[in-house]
Amino acid sequence: MLKIKSYLLLLFVFVIFSCSKDDDNSDPTPPQIDKTVNQQTLGSSARDFLTADNFISIRLEIAYVQGFKPTQSSIDGLVTFLQSRCYKPANISIKETVVAPTGDNASLDIDEIVQIESDNRTVYNTGDELGVWVFFADNNSDKDEGNSVILGTAYRNTSCIIFEKTIQDINNSLVGGDLSRIEGTSLHHEFGHLFGLVDLGTPMLVDHQDTTAADDGTSTPNRHCNVEGCLMYFQTVTNVFSMAMGNGSVAEFDELCLADLKANGGK
Ligand SMILES: [Zn+2]
Ligand SMILES: [Zn+2]
Repeated sequence: MLKIKSYLLLLFVFVIFSCSKDDDNSDPTPPQIDKTVNQQTLGSSARDFLTADNFISIRLEIAYVQGFKPTQSSIDGLVTFLQSRCYKPANISIKETVVAPTGDNASLDIDEIVQIESDNRTVYNTGDELGVWVFFADNNSDKDEGNSVILGTAYRNTSCIIFEKTIQDINNSLVGGDLSRIEGTSLHHEFGHLFGLVDLGTPMLVDHQDTTAADDGTSTPNRHCNVEGCLMYFQTVTNVFSMAMGNGSVAEFDELCLADLKANGGK
């Protein structure tokens, strides 16, 4: 009897709760965006990037602190890169968002990076449009150590950060450095992780995961390709001298990474 009473009470509470929810839904203001769909683990939206199954367009939120905006050629290059790998019959559009400075000489840790996104991000998945957040930071990563610096980190299914200050500092220290090339390689590499490489949501057809490279120190698993020169090769984004002074173009996926992307529905 007691059990039945408790059950009825629960049912009653549930009904009241449901009614209050219904009342909220009848409000004429548009429903709240579900931000949680853009707060999933890295690599889990690989097919959402690569295929048109769920999303036919991409909206990129390019966020930056004044003075740390990427070059126009890096932005254009990213759009071309996405068009060349992802089936998006509708357009790939850009929204620029200016973010307040993050503090003097304050290295950013992952909690701060997530907080900056939470405070500033406005573009989320809407209907059949995939929303993506890319933040160009005015500070470096807290994982930097001596000569080992982090240029970018993909940390959620549709989120990455580029440490633009670090990139600018490196470029300024080089004679004949090419800012767009360092930015482009860093950006495309992080998008490779968003696409699920390597074996991070996009399965490997053959084993080409680098198990020997040192971890890059981020909370991201070390998901890199073992083919030298590939965009997803660890040293491609750690050897900035070869990146900046190399053969003149942004690094590209090797055949094994390309085959994985195609097998998972990409171009
Ligand atoms: Zn990486
Ligand atoms: Zn590769």
